[in-house]
Amino acid sequence: MTFLLIVVALAIGGAIGIFKAKHVKMTEMPELVAMLHSFVGAAAVLVGFCSFITDPGEPGVENVWHMGEVGLAVFIGAVTLTGSVVAYLKLSAKISGKPRTLPGHNGIIVGAIVVALVLIGFFTTTIGLQGGLPLLLVITALSLALGAYLVLAIGGGDMPVVVSMLNSYSGWAAAMAGFTLGNDLLIITGALVGSSGAYLSYIMCQGMNRSFVSVILGGFGGDGAAPSGAGEAKDYGDYTEATAEEVAAMLKDAKRVVIAPGYGMAVAQAQFPVADLTRRLIDAGVDVKFGIHPVAGRMPGHMNVLLAEAKVPYDNVFEMDEVNDDFGDVDVVLVIGANDTVNPAAETEPDSPIAGMPVMHVWEAGKVIVFKRGMGNAGYAGVQNPLFFNENTDMLLGDAKASTDAILSAL
Ligand code: NDP
Repeated sequence: MTFLLIVVALAIGGAIGIFKAKHVKMTEMPELVAMLHSFVGAAAVLVGFCSFITDPGEPGVENVWHMGEVGLAVFIGAVTLTGSVVAYLKLSAKISGKPRTLPGHNGIIVGAIVVALVLIGFFTTTIGLQGGLPLLLVITALSLALGAYLVLAIGGGDMPVVVSMLNSYSGWAAAMAGFTLGNDLLIITGALVGSSGAYLSYIMCQGMNRSFVSVILGGFGGDGAAPSGAGEAKDYGDYTEATAEEVAAMLKDAKRVVIAPGYGMAVAQAQFPVADLTRRLIDAGVDVKFGIHPVAGRMPGHMNVLLAEAKVPYDNVFEMDEVNDDFGDVDVVLVIGANDTVNPAAETEPDSPIAGMPVMHVWEAGKVIVFKRGMGNAGYAGVQNPLFFNENTDMLLGDAKASTDAILSAL
């Protein structure tokens, strides 16, 4: 009977998973991943509670280990659960992506972790349901609040690291659930996910110029105040527009062109006409390169997947670091639906939420064309982009696919 129940549960869960994965849009992948991490967290909490209720402890040393495992599984699981739910809400724009911190931010985080660990220490000494349950409930509530706060406190362009960090947390939550169940396979797979996720977060932090400790602890180490530049509407002057025909003429005269794609290319599904445009320009003898920022789009490797789908020759696709020093020699840069990843404010405005994040130096090129639907919306980090108001920048307003098609027709 138990076996049958497991098979039915697996079939229902698997069917829902396959349905979701088949129907999710590429641009919604990070939300889905965040949601799935929350399930791992919830599972660890439930396993912890079940394990405690079926075996609430007897006097002896074994009890300390068992209760310690339960306490840690519930702690890590609950942090992962609410952290992932908040990440989901932020990524799907159901709540603002801006960092939200309380006064005494660092103290709150350290205090909550220390209190949770001390409570787990007390919990290991309790015996029986009546003794342990109230303490376990307090640990759960504290951990749930901590998880939500850790992710609420992170904003700007740091969400990609948060998603990979939650991936790591979910691995450790699964490993702790493995300890409580005495299941070696779960311990090993959980530890694999936990350590690889932590290493990926570390590499991403290096790429994004961020402190690893600061990001995994919800912006720990900062002064706790939201950056003063966040969301402020600054006056950068006037912008100029170009028509598709004018852009086509510029491309005809150009010798070197770099394309900087971003999230907007994915939204517009413009990769196919962009690939056609690339082929046309290469055939006409133009040197065309794609410059890919490590967090362009909404998941690691997002742009590479889209360009591969559209069969853009791989030899023309470069990482940001491989093109960033050469923009001075480039005649025209096409910024196709990218915003934060080409925002010079990251280098020039220390109070900007994206300050310190490496960005593509597109503004050093002779001419920059920005594909965007209108001037009202900012990029993911919610900050204005002074690039749009530079003298050598022209805006090509409209859907990126329609704009690229129009350039192709004009060519
Ligand atoms: P951004 O999100 O900064 O900007 C997207 C741009 O595309 C906007 O200017 C938007 O303007 C434009 N756009 C949207 N739809 C269209 C359309 N149909 N046609 C033309 N333009 C369009 O993109 P980036 O790729 O530069 O930056 C990625 C951001 O996402 C970074 O902040 C990164 O940290 C974050 N992020 C990345 C993840 C990852 O793993 N890669 C995961 C989570 C977050 P408009 O609306 O006016 O058209």
